Amino acid sequence: MNTHIYNPFIEAQQRFDHAAELLELNQATRDLLRVPLREFHFSIPIHMDDGSRKVFRGFRIQHNDARGPAKGGIRFHPLETIDTVRALSMWMTWKTAVADIPLGGGKGGVICDPHHLSQLELEQLCRGWVRQVVKNVGPYTDIPAPDVMTSAQHMLWMLDEFEAIRGEKSPGFITGKPLGMGGSQGRKESTGYGVMITVREALKELGISPANTIASVQGFGNVARYAIDLYQKMGGKVICVSSWDNDEQKSFSFRKKDGINLDELSSITDIFGGIEKEKAADLGYEVLAGEAWFEQEVDILVPAALENQINIDNAQKISKRVKILAEGANGPTTPEADKILEKFDLLIIPDFLANAGGVICSYFEQVQNNMNYYWEKDEVLSKIDVKMTSAFTLVSEFAKSNNLSMRDAAYVISVNKVAQACRDRGWV
Ligand code: NAD
Repeated sequence: MNTHIYNPFIEAQQRFDHAAELLELNQATRDLLRVPLREFHFSIPIHMDDGSRKVFRGFRIQHNDARGPAKGGIRFHPLETIDTVRALSMWMTWKTAVADIPLGGGKGGVICDPHHLSQLELEQLCRGWVRQVVKNVGPYTDIPAPDVMTSAQHMLWMLDEFEAIRGEKSPGFITGKPLGMGGSQGRKESTGYGVMITVREALKELGISPANTIASVQGFGNVARYAIDLYQKMGGKVICVSSWDNDEQKSFSFRKKDGINLDELSSITDIFGGIEKEKAADLGYEVLAGEAWFEQEVDILVPAALENQINIDNAQKISKRVKILAEGANGPTTPEADKILEKFDLLIIPDFLANAGGVICSYFEQVQNNMNYYWEKDEVLSKIDVKMTSAFTLVSEFAKSNNLSMRDAAYVISVNKVAQACRDRGWV
């Protein structure tokens, strides 16, 4: 249990301030980049299935668009806060910069629990969200995408509303759409595969074959499952995963020491990535406490659930055997935990580098929408591999030549690129 008050935006600002110091940025640049450029806060009224009305709170934040239109997902979560969205929008700015794609950073969200909303209620929420921001988003200004508890179906409802209001087809307004409706092959695999491409490159540098490693993963949603898929294809073995149990309002870990079976576990997982624990036990999985996933004796840890999962209270519990911490989630490790982990012989692949595969694929989706010509899956995945590998190599070489951690190196590269774009435009 984390006993410290956690605010992701304060953490994001601390990390930015550190990079700004390393880069010796002037005050105007710091003032511009440590807060979002624009924020939209609004209410979304919904007709509930039982005949009542309910009003939900929604947000869209555009942190920076100096390098291109803002880009970032929309999260539906009961614990969503404005500061979470602010932090995530700032991390998106660094992510598009490190991935070297011509986009900025944005993020959106709605405070709601999709577990308790019908399809009709969710559709109204998606359409209502678009109605509130339609003047401020679009393919040339700000392009949303799915994130935690939003899917291709949500994106299609949002696109449909946007096109209905604008009176024209505009598939590049939103990414993560279904295949055949402007979606790209490889989108669902992209983030998880991207995480494992960075792990593959890190293992190469360490001179270790993936087949000689074992891993433990937090989460069993989109990112976690495709990360596990590629890692298993590379020859690795995942012995533990964890997921959120909505009935009990806590997480559980599921361990099988001879390796989890991805298809088998997926077949007993709900649409929100929650694993049914009774069925898992019947299949021979040990059902352990939520935190057990990161206490495992493994070589690779992949947090792929939410922010603030490795913090000052639990970082010490990570096994000394762990060589790579690949941050699939956004902001899973706090700055205090980083300080503890500095003493470990551990390579951290920072979030906005490790999980950039999703936004790279989103960018490719827009490119395909603009051409109205769609690539085969192999082509999309190999283009993601090229971009992820070069981003990893750039950060790794910069880290080594400047004696920085991978996180500091990624921040310095990205913040510098965005600051330069702001200077070039004459903003600072
Ligand atoms: P998802 O909704 O598909 O899955 C989330 C998973 O985390 C579920 O299995 C859920 O049960 C689990 N979970 C939630 N709270 C937990 C807890 N306290 N302990 C253990 N497990 C918990 O979400 P996703 O799309 O896989 O995103 C996961 C993370 O990756 C988020 O931080 C998200 O912002 C980030 N991310 C996602 C993408 C993407 O393309 N989907 C891209 C970049 C970053």
